[in-house]
Amino acid sequence: MDKVYSHYDRFMVFQIKQLLDEKGIPCFVKNEFAIGAMGELSPMDVLPEVWISDPQWLLKAQQFIAEFEYQPTDSSPWICSNCKEQNGASFELCWQCGKDSVV
Ligand SMILES: [Zn+2]
Repeated sequence: MDKVYSHYDRFMVFQIKQLLDEKGIPCFVKNEFAIGAMGELSPMDVLPEVWISDPQWLLKAQQFIAEFEYQPTDSSPWICSNCKEQNGASFELCWQCGKDSVV
């Protein structure tokens, strides 16, 4: 088994997990609830992790993750569908009303 990804933000870890699921790559999450539950350890020791159960998928998985992480951060701004406010591309929620950028 091989670890392919870890991040202090559990949400990111699950995005990767979902990405690999969609590609049909067998994977699972470790340390999902580690942060907070193990207050005595430093967060670095207990990052949520994505693991590949079958090593033949390792390279593929790493490729997909690299592509996933390579997303230009300074793309074009978006207009909130709720309040018509313009938001910077780095905002996932409308700063005005809090609505999600995904319609
Ligand atoms: Zn809005």
